[in-house]
This record gives sequence, C-alpha cells and structure tokens, in this order.
Amino acid sequence: MDTETMQGKSRVCVVGGGIAGASLVKSLQYAADVVLIDSKEYIEIPWAQLRSMVEPSFAERSIIQHTDYLKNGKLIVSSAVNVTATGVLTADGSCVPYDYLVVATGHTDSVPLSRSLRIQQFKADNEKIQSSDSILIVGGGPTGVELAGEIAVDFPEKKVTLVHSGSRLMEFIGPKASAKTLDWLVSKKVEVILNQKVDLHSITEGEKKAYNLSGGETIAADCHFLCVAKPCGSSWLKDSVLKDSLDVQGRLKVDENLRVIGQKNIFAIGDITNVPEMKQGYLAERHAEVAAKNIKHLIRVGKEEKLAMYKPGSAMAIVSLGRKEGVAQFPFVTLIGWLPGRIKSKDLFVGKTRKHLGLSPH
Ligand SMILES: Cc1cc2nc3c(=O)[nH]c(=O)nc-3n(C[C@H](O)[C@H](O)[C@H](O)COP(=O)(O)OP(=O)(O)OC[C@H]3O[C@@H](n4cnc5c(N)ncnc54)[C@H](O)[C@@H]3O)c2cc1C
Repeated sequence: MDTETMQGKSRVCVVGGGIAGASLVKSLQYAADVVLIDSKEYIEIPWAQLRSMVEPSFAERSIIQHTDYLKNGKLIVSSAVNVTATGVLTADGSCVPYDYLVVATGHTDSVPLSRSLRIQQFKADNEKIQSSDSILIVGGGPTGVELAGEIAVDFPEKKVTLVHSGSRLMEFIGPKASAKTLDWLVSKKVEVILNQKVDLHSITEGEKKAYNLSGGETIAADCHFLCVAKPCGSSWLKDSVLKDSLDVQGRLKVDENLRVIGQKNIFAIGDITNVPEMKQGYLAERHAEVAAKNIKHLIRVGKEEKLAMYKPGSAMAIVSLGRKEGVAQFPFVTLIGWLPGRIKSKDLFVGKTRKHLGLSPH
C-alpha cells in the first residue's frame, strides 16, 4: 500500500453516497485523490423523505447534488458491481483503481438518477395524498410511522390506516417507545393494525381499492404507500473479494478501526457494517470521521499504530410525529411529545446535515 509518494496522492475510492460516504469524501477530498461512486447524482437526507411527501418544496434542501460538497474529487454516477483487490468495477464499464477503498452502500433504493426527477417524484406522491380520502400505509417501521404522522397532522380529514406485520411498531426501538407511538397515532385517528400482512398482489380496483390482509380482513382505501425496509446494499459484493467478509444479514464485518476484518486498506462505514448498534445517520457520520482519520494517518504515516478506534453508539433514536411532536428513546428515558419534536420534527436536522456537508443550512 502506498504512502503519499513523489508520484502523487493516494487514491481513495468511496462506494455509496449516502450520509456515510458523503461525510467521508467531504473530509478526505483535499488529502487524497478521491473518487465517489454512487448510483445517483445526489445525496438524499433519508429522514426528510416523509416531510417531502406532504410538502414537496422541503426536498429542495434535503436533496443535495454530490457536486455541491465534492469540490475536489471525481464523481462516477453508476452502480458498483464488483470489487477486486485493486479496483472497483461499475455497471457503466469503468474500473476504478484504489489504494484505499471505503464501502458505504448502506441500503439500495430504486430512486431516480437525477435530483430533479426525485423532486418530481415527491410532487407526484403529494398529489396522490391530496387526491385521496383514504390512505393505506404498509409497514410500521420508522418510515411508515413517520409518514402516518405527517399525513395525520397535515391532513387530519383523511382516513389513514397503517398495517404492520410485527406485533409492535418500530421494533428497532424499545417496547415503551412503540406503545407511546401507538397511543399517539390512535389519538390522531390513525387506524393501526398489527400482526397482519397486506397482499399487494391481489388489490381489487373499484371506486376504492380493496386490500386483502393475511388475517382475512379487507381494507378499502384510495391508495397505498409501501414503507417496508430497504434491502442491504451488499448484493454487489457477493461474488467479490469481500464475499467472505459478509455476515448472515449481508453486512460487512469490521474491526474497531472500521476496517473490513482481515483487510489492511478496505474500510466499511454506515449501515452496511455489522457494528453492534442501532443503524443511525448520526452514527454513520461518526464512522466517517473515524475512517477518514485512519486513512489520513495511513497515508501520512504509513504505519498501523495509533489508528483511531470506533466505540459503538448507545441505543438512541428520535422518530418524528408530524411537525411538532416526536418520540425519543434515550439511554435512560423514553419521551413522547413536544420535547423530542423540538429536537427533530421542525427542520428534521436538514440544516444541521447541510452544515455538516459544508453547505448553507438554508
Ligand atoms: C424514516 C427514517 C428516519 C430516520 N431518522 C433518523 C434520524 O433522525 N437520525 C439519524 O441519525 N438516523 C435516522 N435514520 C437512519 C439513517 O437514515 C441511516 O442510518 C443512514 O441513512 C445510513 O446512511 P448510509 O450512508 O450508511 O446508508 P444509505 O443512506 O443507505 O446510503 C447508501 C448509498 O449507497 C448507494 N448505493 C447502494 N448500493 C450501491 C452500489 N452498488 N453502487 C453505488 N452506490 C450504491 C445508495 O444509492 C445510497 O446513496 C432514519 C431512517 C429512516 C428510514
């Protein structure tokens, strides 16, 4: 592996332009020759998506072109399809050589390639909400719950039904937070049905659509939104040099320096890692900090000693419930209402995230 040499800077290839990959290239761009490979032209702040569905102009700030913060690096808009010990292969036929590789492909999502098309998509979702009297939300994870909250607060006259296959909402946080969230949704007249699956292959068209549930019940609604978990972004690694580094869930096994186990020059950060903690964006940002520090250290010093270590984060999360309220799980307390709402729900950390990427918060 090369230290910074007479021939030029070390080559760092980062795959995945979510919050983890974007944070990393932002801090490494002047220290190395950086290439960012992402399947789309922009980074989207995921926790602002649901607000953008009820207020499409919100997406103008939460969808950011990679070129807005990547000022000294190369962007390749294509999907990575394989990786060797020396380079990353992309769907458009490029092979990007690297001295250091960072895998940050958290989850895959079938979203448009361009920012303008993505904003159009939010406008279309908004029209769908506006023109429906009754809306079915499929999935009671954070996405389904936040969407139900946004619609219930902005469009209280609409009938919202949320169907979840699990026995409680948002299993990624504790039962107390799930129970408080259920009470809040019910207080906003959202009908919540647990332990049921919606059969999306047998929707009957009519004045209203009829959706069959696994328990035999039928729900009538004008439209539905699918809010189920997105697949882990590691399918492109299954036949690669990293295939043996994937755990059973498809996550990359990393050491305390965030290097893929057994690899000297390959790091993984964000949701794709098997770090034993909640998968959260603010933790992905911390991963990026540690990996950037370590890559800079390896480039400058060339020695393994004194690499920064990552300590898993505690089980903390805030889920917004409309514009003013939220539910928060902190290490010793679970809160619902205006306090977590003040922390997250007004701006959904968009200004903060933009600042983190070196951009104006507005
Ligand atoms: C509704 C909701 C609310 C949330 N709220 C919060 C919150 O308030 N605070 C918080 O900290 N976290 C929150 N999270 C969690 C947070 O969104 C994730 O932890 C974070 O986005 C993970 O970032 P990432 O960069 O690791 O992965 P991702 O955001 O999944 O980004 C992965 C990137 O890799 C790209 N990619 C994937 N495969 C390939 C490939 N083969 N080639 C090229 N590119 C590829 C994708 O296009 C994407 O750009 C929330 C999540 C949800 C769903």
